[in-house]
Amino acid sequence: MKKLIVVFFLTIIVYGCGSSKALLSVEKAPMAVSIDLVNVNDDKVLVSIDPGAFQEDMVSFYIPKTVPGTYSEDNYGKYLEGFKALDYKGNELTVNKTDDNTWNISNARSLDRISYYVNDTYDTENEVKDAVFSPAGTNILANENFVLNLHGFVGYFKGLKEVPYVLTVTRPSGLTATTSLKEKEVEGLAANTDLFTANRYFEVIDNPIQYTEPNTETFQIKDIAVTLSVYSPNGTYTASTLKDRMQEMMTAQKAFLGDIDGTKEYNILLYLSTMEPSDASGFGALEHHTSTVVVLPEAMPQDRLEQAMVDVVSHEFFHIVTPLNIHSEEIQYFDFNDPKMSEHLWMYEGTTEYFANIFQIQQGLINEEEFYKRMMDKTNNAKAYDDAMSFTEMSKNILEEPYEKNYANVYEKGALINMALDILLREQSNGEKGVLWLMKELSKKYGKMTPFKDDELIDEIVAMTYPEVRTFFDTHVIGNTPIDYGKFLAKVGLTVKTIEKESGYFLNGEIPFIDVNQSEGNSIFVRKGIELNSFFNDLGAKGGDVIKSINDTSINLEAIRPIIGQSFQWNPETEIKMIVQRGEEEITLEGKVGTPVLQVETIVPMENVSPKQEELRKAWLKG
Ligand SMILES: [Zn+2]
Repeated sequence: MKKLIVVFFLTIIVYGCGSSKALLSVEKAPMAVSIDLVNVNDDKVLVSIDPGAFQEDMVSFYIPKTVPGTYSEDNYGKYLEGFKALDYKGNELTVNKTDDNTWNISNARSLDRISYYVNDTYDTENEVKDAVFSPAGTNILANENFVLNLHGFVGYFKGLKEVPYVLTVTRPSGLTATTSLKEKEVEGLAANTDLFTANRYFEVIDNPIQYTEPNTETFQIKDIAVTLSVYSPNGTYTASTLKDRMQEMMTAQKAFLGDIDGTKEYNILLYLSTMEPSDASGFGALEHHTSTVVVLPEAMPQDRLEQAMVDVVSHEFFHIVTPLNIHSEEIQYFDFNDPKMSEHLWMYEGTTEYFANIFQIQQGLINEEEFYKRMMDKTNNAKAYDDAMSFTEMSKNILEEPYEKNYANVYEKGALINMALDILLREQSNGEKGVLWLMKELSKKYGKMTPFKDDELIDEIVAMTYPEVRTFFDTHVIGNTPIDYGKFLAKVGLTVKTIEKESGYFLNGEIPFIDVNQSEGNSIFVRKGIELNSFFNDLGAKGGDVIKSINDTSINLEAIRPIIGQSFQWNPETEIKMIVQRGEEEITLEGKVGTPVLQVETIVPMENVSPKQEELRKAWLKG
């Protein structure tokens, strides 16, 4: 999974049932699922499931609480309503709902089928606390778009996760499906009906489907056929406009990975959000074995959208390595309703995110300076989280606080752990081995169907490598000692230097120092957790301050736009009066605007670099 912080502010200012089947016992009959996308009723979709014949008096039906890759409890059962269990005569059986995701059905021997309505998650994301992350969520927009993350639509009966599934989807005539789910061609199938099959429940939810008007492109990356499906509500983007960057990027990824993966098909399901209150607002993507669902704002300009796609899709595609190919038993035998977490988020998300950056420099998509900037940004972003929290402990307990609120650090410090490990491995192996080598070795040893034992992985890695690697893991990954990145960077002749950089008054390049609070009348506040420029610092502003007025003009989103425009004309002597709300207090900040500068830390080459450092750096960056 990859969560993307899209600075919202910036985006606006810049732009039926056969009785014969019932004779088969549940273990033998496929789970027959029908999804009706034609008769959408009050924004809800009717799903019915026909299992075989049960021998028990009571059976439980589940909708997942958690799905792999999300590391959060989302309770997809909350979106179901009108749950009915019917016997062979069409009479309702007694159903007892015991939690958000569990329905116990009595008199199960006479159960013929169940049916329920599903609400989508995109509609309510902005209203509920702990909303489902959009790339794992569902969308129901009659006659126009359906994002079928199937864990939101299809459940499983207790003990029957391993039986095959047959999904019959009735769809509006203008829409087509993009999915990695196996489609079955059946003669005499009713018009506008798609039939999909899966060998087991996991396969159902590992293969989301997007239904849209046709807007797809397919291209070949060596032996992988990649299909990009785009839903762009205002017709801003087509798959053909976005194809080239994706093709270039994935070709580079394949070159970086070499022989590591085995998929022959990959589908990118891109959903572009209008960003209206009733639309998706969690930007980023979720990985699957042979596809990914990506959600981004449609209002993003093309170059930024393409760059976001490069960063996000490359991350998801690298998940083929881990956890998809290298994972522990916790993930292989994932319990959707009582999940056990693995210790190794440093690898599942950290290595993946690190690869999504290092491949770009190794394959020449970005230069050294850009790569250093990205690693520096991660160092700075990581400061917002607990640096003295054991990464393995956090991972194991990620569904609970205080670990949960540190989750996003898997993309920051998680990647940096891998950077340090990569440098360490290069140093110990005279430049020959790095984290990619390690992942290749692990994937040879394990692979898609062979999990490792969670508490043995690190021992395994140490046995394959060097004693220094044991110290590294014990100290910085299992242990809670923060990593001195400077120490590792020095091995490759790099150092961190603070420099002064000019910025705008309200913007640092494209990135604003302020943000908008939509839930409080579009009020404007100074962003927290970032380095402020000298303009805000010298005035005495602090992160979190709500800007009430500037030069007696009261401030909201509308009012600040022209002021940002005017600020480009300000000179250092321009006087400003800003009233801010800090907690209960209203504070007046006054003074000259000055020349805004920002103290930034950058990674730069050392002045005197030894040939050894030089060589190691080359081995690290050029592979
Ligand atoms: Zn991820």
